[in-house]
Amino acid sequence: MPTRYVYLALGSNLGDRREQLRAAIEELRAGGVAVDAVSALYETPPWGVVEQPAFLNIAVSGPSDLAPRALLVLAKRIEAAHGRDFAAERWTARPLDIDIALIEGETVDEPDLTVPHVLIAERSFVLVPLADVAGDVLHPLLGRTIAALRDARPQAERDEVVRVAEVGWERA
Ligand code: ADP
Ligand code: MG
Repeated sequence: MPTRYVYLALGSNLGDRREQLRAAIEELRAGGVAVDAVSALYETPPWGVVEQPAFLNIAVSGPSDLAPRALLVLAKRIEAAHGRDFAAERWTARPLDIDIALIEGETVDEPDLTVPHVLIAERSFVLVPLADVAGDVLHPLLGRTIAALRDARPQAERDEVVRVAEVGWERA
């Protein structure tokens, strides 16, 4: 595949959350995503199933020549390496979740893979970190930038996404 920028949303709410996110960045690099931007680190209350620990959320981006499906396979392989239980209910606690938020110049609409991720425009915990690395990037279906989509979320929802470490946290 030609090299394109890919934008990934990562979350963790089990174990050493920050360390798992840091490790996942290295594992993405080893797997073919040349991560060159990492958002600040955000803490978000649980969403969906609420009786679970808070999440740490980040977004990363970088050039990759992986096809969308190869990227999904990589994401799932890294999730599995972190002990993700794929039999668990959706939206329950997980050591690591890696979602493909956007791929430059690409849309995918298949049963098990939708890019842009279907819910990004409705989730501040994705949009707030994503805007750090992709604020000016257009959502190809909505025709609005990530920063504009973030700013369209209710203030109360955005306020739940709390910046707990500044850009560069993963190198500290
Ligand atoms: P969620 O991320 O919504 O909390 P999961 O991580 O359990 O839930 O993902 C469920 C399924 O969503 C995955 O098995 C994957 O096949 C599918 N999926 C569809 N589109 C995407 C995408 N853009 N990125 C990651 N997974 C996706
Ligand atoms: Mg996921």
